[in-house]
Amino acid sequence: MVEQTLSIIKPDAVQKRVIGKIIDRFESHDLKIVAIKKLQLSEYDAKAFYAVHKERPFFGDLVKFMISGPVVAMVLEGEDAVAKNRDLMGATNPKEAKPGTIRADFAESIDANAVHGSDSIENAKLEIEFFFSKREIC
Ligand code: ADP
Ligand code: MG
Repeated sequence: MVEQTLSIIKPDAVQKRVIGKIIDRFESHDLKIVAIKKLQLSEYDAKAFYAVHKERPFFGDLVKFMISGPVVAMVLEGEDAVAKNRDLMGATNPKEAKPGTIRADFAESIDANAVHGSDSIENAKLEIEFFFSKREIC
């Protein structure tokens, strides 16, 4: 099924100037960039976006990290986009991520792990709405 999912290139990867290399992973695996923007999240934005994790011990550090520099938010579209993006990303902890995945290749630690990707079709819809208006998706 053709799906849409939200991807974020996190501040560590933007800082490392690997935006292009990460986008290439998506495009070369038949995921189309149907929306894209670079932006600086506010603390309010980051807390809202990661609200599901607000009780977790790492929440404060996660928010701090996500606002430490600009991010690139994208909507990826393609066959099984949600699962395909998660496969391309690799495990949350880059040390456990399979070789050749984005996190294995570009991430340093579980905090600074290069990319975010929606974990379900439902969450993808909510996360896409968080970042993009209808007219920005084309
Ligand atoms: P994923 O990004 O792989 O979907 P989660 O949704 O579980 O992972 O967590 C969201 C983000 O919170 C992770 O990408 C990571 O940056 C951070 N995180 C998750 N678990 C930990 C942890 N144990 N310690 C520090 N940061 C964490
Ligand atoms: Mg997640």
